[in-house]
Amino acid sequence: MKEFCCEYMDYHANFNCDIHKNPYDCPDNIIIFYEKSNDYGIIIHDGGSSRIEINFCPWCGKKL
Ligand SMILES: [Zn+2]
Ligand SMILES: [Zn+2]
Repeated sequence: MKEFCCEYMDYHANFNCDIHKNPYDCPDNIIIFYEKSNDYGIIIHDGGSSRIEINFCPWCGKKL
């Protein structure tokens, strides 16, 4: 399993909602992580699948 920089990122990157199958549909889901490309993003809840790519952890500040 992937090791994340901190427990916050671990929690949010692995966040799974029972109600919303699509992570972009869930208002509680704020981080999207693509393991294949090691790509982190903050989900923009505009009804589509927008995200802002991030290179540093918003919680601990480490490089992602
Ligand atoms: Zn972190
Ligand atoms: Zn949800």
